[in-house]
Amino acid sequence: MNKIKLTIDGKVVSGYPNQTILEVASDNGIDIPHLCYHPKLSKSGQCRLCVVRVGGKMLKASCTEFAMDGMDVVTEDEGIIAARKLVLGLLLQEGNHNCLYCEANGECELQRYCRMYQMEEPSRQIPFHEREVDYASSNALRRNENVCILCGRCVRACGELQVSNIWGFAERGHRTHLIADDDRRIGESNCVKCGTCVQLCPTGALSFQQVLGRGLNWELSKESSICIYCGVGCKIDFYTNPQGQLVKTMGNDEGPNKGQLCVKGRFGFDFTQSPKRLSKPLVRKDGVLSEVSWKEALDFVAAGLTKIKEEHGPDAIAGLSSAKCTNEENYLMQKFMRAVIGTNNVDHCARL
Ligand code: SF4
Ligand code: SF4
Ligand code: SF4
Repeated sequence: MNKIKLTIDGKVVSGYPNQTILEVASDNGIDIPHLCYHPKLSKSGQCRLCVVRVGGKMLKASCTEFAMDGMDVVTEDEGIIAARKLVLGLLLQEGNHNCLYCEANGECELQRYCRMYQMEEPSRQIPFHEREVDYASSNALRRNENVCILCGRCVRACGELQVSNIWGFAERGHRTHLIADDDRRIGESNCVKCGTCVQLCPTGALSFQQVLGRGLNWELSKESSICIYCGVGCKIDFYTNPQGQLVKTMGNDEGPNKGQLCVKGRFGFDFTQSPKRLSKPLVRKDGVLSEVSWKEALDFVAAGLTKIKEEHGPDAIAGLSSAKCTNEENYLMQKFMRAVIGTNNVDHCARL
């Protein structure tokens, strides 16, 4: 596809004709404030925070306006700042934002832009409809609609990425609000707890239960790893608090999962720090499981397999391998069964 050239803030940049102004700007390292836009989702042009001036005249929503050859774009001037402050002020008036009590404090995109434009507490000129918070119906998700900015990212994330279509909007005008299914609490809906909507929500309207009270966002440290639950090999960012506790997971965009996770990868990590977790090999002695060294445990298993093979032949032994292992470990397992034990009795839990 032929490239186009346009000017953004006096700099000549290139892009493709099917890209929006915001996408071309982003590819060229120019940050245009936005809330409803997310690169993984369809464009809705809802929030109007991303307005830019095109050709020295009208303000256009850069997330939906296509870039054109020869276009002249300005991403910030006095009028644009005034428009963005108006949008932010309306969003603040429509909700009840107190960052002190909000899970998103420190990573909230609305908070970031309010600080960027030095917003002050707006006097309320439009009605605020207080909504009941839903902190308890689900053991995975929390919902506080009083800080929801109706950006629709959760609606599109659940519909377009997860394809569960749980979230939607009900009513119209200033009464518009988020609903799950046919207006149920999230724990009573058909939500499969993938967490995609929380990951993409720009505010604290949706949050995870486990992280509650276990660390401030800016205190958490991140390590990336691979999920151990199945062979897809999703890449996960694990967040730990200063006490070393694992408190949150986020899908990593660079893995085959492209940032998404299933309920196991998203929430199934509490076992890692469970006191019940087996961390040393156990061998039953006189009917009681006792801790032993790895050498003693492996010698015990080898002696048992040798005895069965000698007394009943190799086909009396079977090996069942696991999707929780790597490909290499599974390969070694079948190799061991065939070459060392001498049987083709090999299977894998993924076939169950
Ligand atoms: S959603 Fe953002 S701005 Fe609103 S209270 Fe939470 S952190 Fe503050
Ligand atoms: S957790 Fe997943 S399934 Fe549930 S509402 Fe969010 S995106 Fe949809
Ligand atoms: S819950 Fe979050 S993602 Fe959904 S509409 Fe509200 S602010 Fe946007």
